[in-house]
Amino acid sequence: MRTDFDYRVTVGWLRDLASQPTPDDAWPCTRWDDQLERDQLRFLDAQAELGVTYNLAWGLFVDRAWPAPLDAVIDDARAERVRRFTDAAHARGLKALSGVGVYSWGFDEIIAEHPEVARGGAHVMCAHATAAWGWQRRVLDYMMDDAWGLDGISMQSADLGRCECDDCGRLSPAEHHALLIVRCAEYVRASRPDWTIGQASWGLRVDEPEELQWVQAMASAVDYSIEVRERSAAAGARRQLISGLDTAFGTVGGVFVEPPQHWARLRWFVPCGLASAESLRRLWNDGGRACEYFHRPFENPAEEVSWRTGAMILSHPEMAPMQALAEAVTTVYGVTGDARDDLSDWFRRGEEAYFSRANFEIGDGPLSLEPLVWSENRAAPGPAVYLRDRMSAEARHDYGRELVELRGALSDIAIPAAHAVDRTRACIEGTLRDIETLA
Ligand SMILES: [Zn+2]
Repeated sequence: MRTDFDYRVTVGWLRDLASQPTPDDAWPCTRWDDQLERDQLRFLDAQAELGVTYNLAWGLFVDRAWPAPLDAVIDDARAERVRRFTDAAHARGLKALSGVGVYSWGFDEIIAEHPEVARGGAHVMCAHATAAWGWQRRVLDYMMDDAWGLDGISMQSADLGRCECDDCGRLSPAEHHALLIVRCAEYVRASRPDWTIGQASWGLRVDEPEELQWVQAMASAVDYSIEVRERSAAAGARRQLISGLDTAFGTVGGVFVEPPQHWARLRWFVPCGLASAESLRRLWNDGGRACEYFHRPFENPAEEVSWRTGAMILSHPEMAPMQALAEAVTTVYGVTGDARDDLSDWFRRGEEAYFSRANFEIGDGPLSLEPLVWSENRAAPGPAVYLRDRMSAEARHDYGRELVELRGALSDIAIPAAHAVDRTRACIEGTLRDIETLA
């Protein structure tokens, strides 16, 4: 009998854990510098400490588009960084996975150069085009190169929609994506039987009874399968769905705050570890055994507390969420005794302060602080939509009032890690500035 999740995976774009924002770059920025490498090592250390055994990174090789042809994808310096990163994961007993788009995500340039791979749509290749399978295989071959030291992949096929030609259009959505996922999984398995293969259903519903046979076919081909929006749980049908699958099923952990690429790291204060922990415990009780749990920038101490709280549940699903939170604040703030209880309760209150006023539904996708892309200029920092669009002006004003109270209450707790306290206060002040700007 397992006492932890089988697939404890943490996932993100390369810079989602970065201590430095990239305010002048288009999303997703995948610049890999020495500081990012240090941030990654720190993150891998936390993973090893909490038993989160898989690191899944998007953007190791390309951001939005594979080049056509597929030679000189990355330079020698980046190749060395990839190898150092996977070596660092292995040295800590962890496995390194790469995200990979399946027939979409990453094929824009190939589609532009070789129009025969697509039948309409600038971002998706056609499931029935022979040439498309050739390019997809080349991408998978590239990742399977021993040079990188990777241990597997996680696939996404539906985030940008699908081919709508007559041949593809005859297939139901899950039937279409199952065709692609099974095709790629079988191809990779044949060469790398040792690899871990996951799949995340961004953009695809897996809760509809008429699609069950395709969802089962897709799940059978991989080691773990992720439902991004927890619709099966919302419909009360998740436990039954899971019982009909012969693979580890999971979620993205209920709530994740999408790291805002353009923003200074101390601009927001949105603790959400308890909601993640509670969501993961519900998943566990329904028979779920996998999670793609999102990267966070530890430079922001509230983000580190949130990540640690949920990550603890992946290894200890029976632990009470408040206990997991207490462990997290102990590590990040060095508190003990009464101060540990007080700070845990302070974080609980901080989490409630936002989520009790915002219209965000746990289990219904990411919480964007700024939009990923919101204007013609993809490098433009976005507005604070998590405050602007998710609560009324009145609620925002009231939220600001409670944040001021929380800032005061933080000073009453005896916390050894003064640097972490200063940064936490800066996060609250950053939020108050955004509230003021919106008023
Ligand atoms: Zn098609």
